Amino acid sequence: MNENCTFCKIINGFKKAHVVYQDDSTIAFFPRVMYTKGHLIIAPIDHYVDIFQVREDILASMMETIKFLSLHCKEVLGAEGINLLHASGESAQQSIPHFHIHLLPRFNNDMLDAWPNMPAWDGGSEELYNKLKVIDTPA
Ligand SMILES: [Zn+2]
Repeated sequence: MNENCTFCKIINGFKKAHVVYQDDSTIAFFPRVMYTKGHLIIAPIDHYVDIFQVREDILASMMETIKFLSLHCKEVLGAEGINLLHASGESAQQSIPHFHIHLLPRFNNDMLDAWPNMPAWDGGSEELYNKLKVIDTPA
């Protein structure tokens, strides 16, 4: 536990939250501000700051929890869609430095736009492709 971390405080019962799900490695609770009906924060029980730090097996458990809760929101709330939102790092606007993923249940006609209107990045793709690819180019 990180004693300065808001989510660690929730996980360890030092701060109140509406916890809707918990298992050995993951937890899900209501955010301070809920943007859609059933908006949840899914986080690992152990303190990891971001995607760069979180263990792969913990990530896998989180995705299992997210799948379970997505179906749960569909069944219990009638959700027709799901958005997953995540931020790692200051540049990505991460506000709480404890790895987490937002699950936003979506409903037809909820009139929300979860895809921000961003300008296209136009820096060219060949050099970028060569830097990023991690597969062998076929001979
Ligand atoms: Zn924490």
